[in-house]
Amino acid sequence: MTGRETDVSALAAGVAAGDRRALARAITLVESGRADHRAQALDLLDRLRSGPPRQALRLGLSGTPGVGKSTFIESFGLMLIAQGLRVAVLAVDPSSARSGGSILGDKTRMERLSRESRAFIRPSPSQARMGGVARRTREAVALCESAGFDIVLIETVGVGQSETVVAELCDLFLLLLAPAGGDELQGVKRGIMEMADLILVNKADGDLKPAAQRTMAEYAGALRLLRRRPQDPEGFPRAMCVSALETGGLAAAWEDMQTLAAWRQENGHWTARRAAQARHWFEDEVRQGLLAALSREPVRSRMETLGQDVAEGRLSPEAAAERLLSALR
Ligand code: GDP
Repeated sequence: MTGRETDVSALAAGVAAGDRRALARAITLVESGRADHRAQALDLLDRLRSGPPRQALRLGLSGTPGVGKSTFIESFGLMLIAQGLRVAVLAVDPSSARSGGSILGDKTRMERLSRESRAFIRPSPSQARMGGVARRTREAVALCESAGFDIVLIETVGVGQSETVVAELCDLFLLLLAPAGGDELQGVKRGIMEMADLILVNKADGDLKPAAQRTMAEYAGALRLLRRRPQDPEGFPRAMCVSALETGGLAAAWEDMQTLAAWRQENGHWTARRAAQARHWFEDEVRQGLLAALSREPVRSRMETLGQDVAEGRLSPEAAAERLLSALR
């Protein structure tokens, strides 16, 4: 056996046994940009896929900075752990796609949760294109499932693009909001509202409680105006108040998530959603692959030359595009 095979099979065994250090190393491997690492990562994922099938409940969580995501994840995660569940937390951080900085990578976040042996917290990968972030997060989710986690929480800062990624990765999508000052909806785009399975208005405690209840009522009203989705039982999607700080409403929110998950499982929507997501990611990978092919030689030079021909009027844009595409074929 070569050293490489030994490494990957030992890593696969460690992940399958639920070892958190092995899981962390496995995620580092799938996040690596190196070609040899990529081959090992695919080998690892293949080995784990052929093991016993394990499914976690994948929860997507989105909210703007300051709304209370880390406080919520800590309180909610600790509650689930107290019920005997194992909880993994992954972050999709859109800022890393642009600047290499990280909003979600702060080590001091979720300190109590991170000390729990049944919790695993992974900050966002730094420096990757959005497509890269999606693939890595998707593979990290699969690794957490193979490691036997019951719940995988995928967190993102709400800026539009990253929510779409998270929605395509999760079974249930949670939108966390803060109490609004006035009576306006907080600029939440309709598309995001339509993705949400539960809207949680956080900070419903102390002086903020009345405002939280008003905000909740507004969103409940807005949700009623949306078209009823086939994947929802009566009463969903719904808005509710929580206090991540005082843990109020968290048990009720969890109950709602379980109700919704069970209903979808019984009615075939669960499997259908995962199947549609698998198809989405397949097509996304093909698109990413084609885009990557465009930036490789000799295609890139050919594109440059044809672009020049178009700019100087020797070829029409359509004819030039057709030439490039047939070269690709
Ligand atoms: P994130 O940026 O979305 O992760 O938000 P944080 O969890 O860091 O919380 C931002 C601020 O809101 C912190 O000062 C928290 O203490 C506060 N906060 C979070 N949840 C609650 C809550 O349920 N009630 C109150 N009153 N404050 C909260």
